[in-house]
Amino acid sequence: MALPFGSYDSVKNRQNRSLLASTQFEDDSYHIMDIEIDKKGLETCQTGLCNLDGQELVLLKYHEVPEFLRGNPYVVHGYRSLLPFNMCMKSLLFWTNETMNIWTHFMGFFVFLLLVLYDNIIALPSMNGSLSDHIILTIGLSCFMFCMLCSTGFHIFCCHSERASRRWLAFDMTGVTFGIIGCYLPAVHYAFYCLSIWRDLYMISITVLSACILIFNLHPHFFSHKWFYTRMALYVGLTAYGIIPTVHWIYLNGGISSHIVQMFIPKVTMMYMLGSLAFSFYITKFPERIFPGKFDFIGSSHQLWHILIVIAFCYWHKAGKEILMYRIAHECPA
Ligand SMILES: [Zn+2]
Repeated sequence: MALPFGSYDSVKNRQNRSLLASTQFEDDSYHIMDIEIDKKGLETCQTGLCNLDGQELVLLKYHEVPEFLRGNPYVVHGYRSLLPFNMCMKSLLFWTNETMNIWTHFMGFFVFLLLVLYDNIIALPSMNGSLSDHIILTIGLSCFMFCMLCSTGFHIFCCHSERASRRWLAFDMTGVTFGIIGCYLPAVHYAFYCLSIWRDLYMISITVLSACILIFNLHPHFFSHKWFYTRMALYVGLTAYGIIPTVHWIYLNGGISSHIVQMFIPKVTMMYMLGSLAFSFYITKFPERIFPGKFDFIGSSHQLWHILIVIAFCYWHKAGKEILMYRIAHECPA
């Protein structure tokens, strides 16, 4: 197997050790950065590896990378493989097939960070928002930020080793769960604002469902290729569950013709359309499936999925603030 660098036996040795270690201690507790294979980091740096600059970072083709990095055969070139921690970080600054994946969600994190600051310092005080409004919006946006950071981490470190890749995928999927929670919480809170029994019931059910998925993450096969569709089905199920409170909310508000329903149902529909569009890119691997190798660095399905997720979260946050404003302006009926 070709390595991205010329003569770095230490990297090979370290990787062999990590493969050995992963078979030997498969059920061992996890070291978050798979840091145990970096114990000899200093020794490795003496080979000059840590001082390499970007021009020496050789990118590999799909058939040259180890099995665990082969997720999408239509992305043909631009792979990093078996990089130590600091090279993973350095590769942020160079154009690989993960650059857009990393930066779309890293920038997404800052977008939501700015929104937290803007909402708490400017928007909510100007709307006379209560303490609970501050808390709910902050929790929602914090879930989005966590989702963005987990995804960024996965795309930075997935090339480090098989174990790091698997564990960071677990973080990535946990981030997705939190992203979905971040969509539900403010929406359910404000939609059922005047019907606190239903609000609490839906809050609890969403928390329980999300917790079940998080517990499922601990299953040893959860992140295997074999369980891909099971995994997807669980996340689609958690998202689709939102249709139940939505239909119930329409009924409780007097049906489709009522003013509030007419105001907010188009937003819910738009959100589901954005989510479905994002997921369709994710699952079909379009457009690179039609033109393999043409979207390796820019425009691939995963990048489009990332961008659409940021747009969907922003859209939903804006819709959440509109329903909050509606709630401030309209008292609950006695
Ligand atoms: Zn991703």
